[in-house]
Amino acid sequence: MARFPLFGDSSRRIAEADSVAVIGLGRFGSSLALELMASGTEVLGIDVDEELVQSLNGQLTQVVRADSTREEVLRQLAVDEFDRVVVAIGDDVQASILTASILLQLKVPVIWAKAVSEQHGRILEQLGVHHVIFPEKDMGRRVAHLVRGAAMDYLEIERGYSLAKIAAPERFQGTPLGETTLRRTHGVTVTAFKTLEGAWQNADNQTVLSPGDRILIVGPTDRVEAFAQLP
Ligand code: ATP
Repeated sequence: MARFPLFGDSSRRIAEADSVAVIGLGRFGSSLALELMASGTEVLGIDVDEELVQSLNGQLTQVVRADSTREEVLRQLAVDEFDRVVVAIGDDVQASILTASILLQLKVPVIWAKAVSEQHGRILEQLGVHHVIFPEKDMGRRVAHLVRGAAMDYLEIERGYSLAKIAAPERFQGTPLGETTLRRTHGVTVTAFKTLEGAWQNADNQTVLSPGDRILIVGPTDRVEAFAQLP
């Protein structure tokens, strides 16, 4: 007996577009789903919680109340036809693992899953989930770098290698970057800059920084942090 025949048809249509299925619409899943919608991606949202589903109705391409631990339900919703599925269930580790294993069995090409602990993450990785994310741990580390340093924004691209937005240090203003020893002495590269009123532009050897400019630097995390401290 098909429980979601109508949803199945319309989610099949969503799956044909630039689309993502998001399972679990708590704070993390719903903000992810809304951000995807804002950037033009079609989103099928799934959650067992009726109230959550109601609250997101009309904001996502389609929102369905369903239990993702049941394979037939995921098939009826055509989740197996999506190229990308995010499992944003955290606290109910069993439901997260079951859902991920069904998605793997359904051969969804790219699966992202949120983990709430190291053990949870390890199991998801062992199952074969393609991308395991630790939102709270990652955000905690990012904020720690912001709190510790002078960076206005910070992203650790991979362990030990980072990107930061900082104010252009005084000693590197007024001279073309190519004529400074910035890279050799400090081990970082200035990739882009922005004047007070201007837009971001790629930086090159001819770029001359002025007071008030913002710059984007990349390099080893310790070098980026040290550079961000320069007056
Ligand atoms: P967040 O930290 O993102 O706010 P949360 O604490 O609200 O998450 P989680 O346990 O991480 O809750 O679960 C996220 C969502 O996943 C919840 O809204 C929950 O209803 C939903 N969910 C849990 N189990 C299932 C399931 N089997 N099928 C579908 N949705 C589920």
